[in-house]
Amino acid sequence: MEIFLFYTILIILIANFLFERWLDYINSKSWSSELPPELQGIYNEEKYKKSQEYQKATLRFALVTETLGFIAILIIYSTGGFGWLDGIIRSRVTNPIYVALLFFAILGFITEFVSVPFSWYDTFILEAKFGFNKSTNRLFFLDKVKGLVISSIIGGLILSLIVWIYLVSGELFWLYSLIVIAVFSVFMAMFYSSIIVPFFNKQIPLAEGDLKNAIKAFSMKAGFNLDNVYVIDGSKRSTKANAYFSGLGSKKRIVLYDTLISDLQTEEIVAVLAHEIGHYKKHHIYYGLFFSLISTAVMLYIFSLVSSYPVFAKVLGSEVPSFQLAVISFGILYSPLSMIIGMGQNHFSRMYEYQADKFAAEKYTGSYLVSALKKLSVNNLSNLTPHPAYVFFNYSHPTLLQRIKKLASIK
Ligand SMILES: [Zn+2]
Repeated sequence: MEIFLFYTILIILIANFLFERWLDYINSKSWSSELPPELQGIYNEEKYKKSQEYQKATLRFALVTETLGFIAILIIYSTGGFGWLDGIIRSRVTNPIYVALLFFAILGFITEFVSVPFSWYDTFILEAKFGFNKSTNRLFFLDKVKGLVISSIIGGLILSLIVWIYLVSGELFWLYSLIVIAVFSVFMAMFYSSIIVPFFNKQIPLAEGDLKNAIKAFSMKAGFNLDNVYVIDGSKRSTKANAYFSGLGSKKRIVLYDTLISDLQTEEIVAVLAHEIGHYKKHHIYYGLFFSLISTAVMLYIFSLVSSYPVFAKVLGSEVPSFQLAVISFGILYSPLSMIIGMGQNHFSRMYEYQADKFAAEKYTGSYLVSALKKLSVNNLSNLTPHPAYVFFNYSHPTLLQRIKKLASIK
């Protein structure tokens, strides 16, 4: 059984890696020098070339980081590194909650530490080369430290609670931990923008002027309170522009990047806002939360059925079964299923994007949304001709071309 499980996990690790590289490869082959008719003229020749160079550079970078990560996992796994680490901690600490916390903390810190140089390269060499980066070394390292502190505190608390439930609850572990995760998810969905985001960015109300008046006129018509519209200082890190809807109930908000406001014309910004209001009106946050909790329930339930088998620890090189080792081996075994679930979530997410686009086209003007999307794609040097299989597996948004075609079909 142990040998069978060992090779099954190994095969899944290798298959996952190869499958993702294959998707990257066919995606890179679908770059074309000719743009589809709907997209012609949005890039000039020089900028289009630049966008393809950017895509190539990010792909090469991903190939290097993914390959190194893959090799590291293979080595740690096949030499029994996870079991060895668990044993070392266990020989010094007895409380199983502390053992689990230390286990994940050490893995997390090592991963973070090793990834910093790559992340630095990505920001200050790659993104900078294409004119995107606005971050400074000070801001970059401050972000890293804040991120690490916040995730250690939140992650540590949730993890302690779940390990404790695991140790005391028996068969109903999956249900109790699901309740903890559900409460936490709803809390985060509500307060992420007001508690976490301020550590990294300033969010301010819209400044007085034409834009505010235009947004006010539309949001009143659409039944969305203007007080819930914020501008975020994304420009301190990158020139890339974005907008998003977040929060539940009274905590809902639409956040527009300052870069979006400086790149687009008033009507285009209102069209983007209309799209975000569409997400709110169609309750997409609630659906997203609901589906993610269903998939978490399935995962926790299967985990609770199998996690106590000693083979889950043995396969990682330890004679002592534990929560943390079961999480690692189960996590890898479960990854093909979680990939399928992720595919489903991306499918729904793309459907929501069409619905929000439709809302914007019906309540405002589709043509302004089209010109906004075009400008955003050009400024972000987006890939205009991704491979359909790549889109199917990885894209949470439809491609620019798909959105333009769909918008054109709305009367
Ligand atoms: Zn959207």
